[in-house]
Amino acid sequence: MPLTVLCEEAFSARPNLTCPEMVSVSTYSTGPRCKGDCRFCGWNRNVIPQPQERRELAPDILTERVNYAASVNGVLECMDNAIAASPAVFERCEQVARACGAVRWGVNPGICKSRTFLVRFREMGAAFYANNIETSPRLFRSIITSHTQEAKLKSLARAREEGLPIATGVIVGMPGESDEDYDAMAEMLRALVPDVLRVNFFFPIAGLALAERFSLPPAEHVLRIVCFFRILFPETPLYLGAGRSIWLRNMQREAEAFANGVYCEQRFLNHGGVDTVE
Ligand code: SF4
Repeated sequence: MPLTVLCEEAFSARPNLTCPEMVSVSTYSTGPRCKGDCRFCGWNRNVIPQPQERRELAPDILTERVNYAASVNGVLECMDNAIAASPAVFERCEQVARACGAVRWGVNPGICKSRTFLVRFREMGAAFYANNIETSPRLFRSIITSHTQEAKLKSLARAREEGLPIATGVIVGMPGESDEDYDAMAEMLRALVPDVLRVNFFFPIAGLALAERFSLPPAEHVLRIVCFFRILFPETPLYLGAGRSIWLRNMQREAEAFANGVYCEQRFLNHGGVDTVE
């Protein structure tokens, strides 16, 4: 199908705009390095951190984030460096929730095995529980060794059962992916029926072994992938995540026209460092 026709179809599939921006705040800067082993993430346990990394969730950064979210009528997403939520993670999310006041916020605290946390997040007023499926089952097994995709799916199901809307999504451009991987992602997302869908883009963090296998397809191809997810979920607010400028290049505006919003940051999991594994 010609790209212009596909974009028109994607545009007509777009539901009404609910929130123009997602503003992320990284509570992971408060804790030790993540025990996770997600090879696309600069915070993973195999990466030697850069000395200039900030080690705390500074009140001034939090205030600046909350104020920015308020100014754009955005939603603040509280992300932690956890495979699984724990009391410490909960406390950090609670700190963000308190700072938010009337600003809407959601949590991205890792896998929640504890229904108590999920209930408390809901009672605290979280707008959603976020956990990305990241990629297809095939690729997931090859680039994430610390936890399973199934555990993520179970956590999302638990959140829904406890009354929290669920936000989930994928990373476009994972090295080694194929069209079959996108079909597999689509099947998983269909089964989840997300309340919020995020399309992130692989960010080639210097020093990560996975980044050395990264290659950039034509922007038209990337736009077609975003169209694919838009058309697949015409009822669901879709947000474009980090890395979109690298992947979409001169096609970014076209994609934003049929998305419901964007993450304000162009980089996620952006702690630099050097991988110690191949
Ligand atoms: S993506 Fe999340 S769980 Fe995985 S290593 Fe990074 S911070 Fe840890």
